[in-house]
Amino acid sequence: MSTLILDGKKLSQRIKEELKAEVAEMNARGATVGLAVIIVGDDPASRIYVNWKKKDCAEVGIKSTEFALAADTPEEELIRLIERLNNDPSINGILVQLPLPGSINEDRVINAISPEKDVDCFHPFNVGRLMLGDPVFLPCTPGGVMEMLDDAGIDPKGKECVVVGRSNIVGKPQAILLLSRHGTVTVCHSRTRNIEEVCRRADILVVAVGKPEFIRADAVKEGAVVIDVGINRLENGKVVGDVHYESVSAVASAITPVPGGVGPMTRAMLLKNTLTAAKLQYGL
Ligand code: NDP
Repeated sequence: MSTLILDGKKLSQRIKEELKAEVAEMNARGATVGLAVIIVGDDPASRIYVNWKKKDCAEVGIKSTEFALAADTPEEELIRLIERLNNDPSINGILVQLPLPGSINEDRVINAISPEKDVDCFHPFNVGRLMLGDPVFLPCTPGGVMEMLDDAGIDPKGKECVVVGRSNIVGKPQAILLLSRHGTVTVCHSRTRNIEEVCRRADILVVAVGKPEFIRADAVKEGAVVIDVGINRLENGKVVGDVHYESVSAVASAITPVPGGVGPMTRAMLLKNTLTAAKLQYGL
């Protein structure tokens, strides 16, 4: 049996080409697309992510504006900036790079973003719409996973889907999206008993744990589709996922590589959400 490699890099490139054409069409009608990217402090990983997001925007013609605030910026000042951007018609999406410094209440900041500019889909209003099956935006990582499945013709309908991890950013919304597509969904977490046994039931296994090579071949059913969300940098500098790629790719029917799998799709989905936000705001 040959294993299908789900190439997120290639698919994200195709999506970006489509978005670029749509942005150009909007620009021709006098409508620009703008994303505000807010970064607080100087966390090196956050800086890398923000730079990537700005580069992605430039690639498709979205105008990104960075707001870099010092780590000791008072919460009130950040909230005031968000309120100003909420009212700025040239800004269609607002992204606050997480994590924020410990002195700032993340929930309060997310709540301050206007739901119609919440391109990360973190605001309770958008999370609620997702729960109710009527989302405006899809959260970037789980949304990217669904695009990959669709592109490969893998339909969750009626399938046993196991999601490992229950974070608000990945695991929980992933489970909701698979459920909304009629998967039979089980969610595992740190208190799940016999996790390998549960994972072995999966036709589609999505892993978002944050532990290098946590899932090994003995936890994977022959022929399963395995989506590895994890990004872990080892001491030797190598980046690996939450799935032991070498052994699991020998039993899976399809698998995402790390890097080059879910990561690029997450980035593409942010652009897609920004365009969606702009279209809604322009009434298009
Ligand atoms: P979190 O740390 O927020 O959540 C991890 C989840 O894994 C928790 O629900 C936790 O359970 C569960 N978990 C931890 N240990 C175990 C265990 N031993 N057995 C079973 N479950 C366990 O991480 P995120 O969801 O934010 O991210 C997960 C991974 O995905 C990370 O590697 C991150 O870097 C990566 N990531 C990748 C993205 C991409 O674009 N590819 C985007 C976002 C994240 P509990 O709730 O019980 O504590």
